[in-house]
Amino acid sequence: ISHLGVKYLVAVNNGTSAIQAAIRSLNINGDIITTPFSWIATMDSILWEGCKPVFVDVNKDTFNIDVSKIEEKITKNTQAILGVHTFSNPCDVIKIKQIANKYKLKVIYDAAHSMFVKYNDKSILNYGDVSAVSFHATKIFNTFEGGACITNSNKICKELKRIRFF
Ligand SMILES: *Cc1c(COP(=O)(O)O)cnc(C)c1O
Repeated sequence: ISHLGVKYLVAVNNGTSAIQAAIRSLNINGDIITTPFSWIATMDSILWEGCKPVFVDVNKDTFNIDVSKIEEKITKNTQAILGVHTFSNPCDVIKIKQIANKYKLKVIYDAAHSMFVKYNDKSILNYGDVSAVSFHATKIFNTFEGGACITNSNKICKELKRIRFF
């Protein structure tokens, strides 16, 4: 936690569980705007939590969700934006926060590739309501299997620990 410069980290068994716990901890049960360009665990987590993925195409230079195309996909059923920092390349977290604030949406980042990535001199894991990291053997930082949720909210951290408990 001190190395990353984040407030709370809740370790779980893998990155998929981390995304699922993130969705559940924020009480999301509707549409989630996300990217079609990711590992399948991103979409699985959304579906397994009973939510619907709504795809927004990626920016061809960053491979991350194209922030200029998010607003046209927002409906009354939209509850969250789930961005992936593809190949450790940070999403446009500032613009995503602006859109989320405007439409009162939650923000989750699938940061499976991005354990030690910095943005504006601080950990990329500080952005969004929850970030999910993976420590799978295929990731640069790995424990063979593992993952974690990162949040700066004490309330969300408590909820994540409650979910993890069983
Ligand atoms: C690896 C990965 C996951 C899932 O992590 P696991 O620890 O394998 O469950 C989720 N999203 C992305 C983008 C990944 O690369």
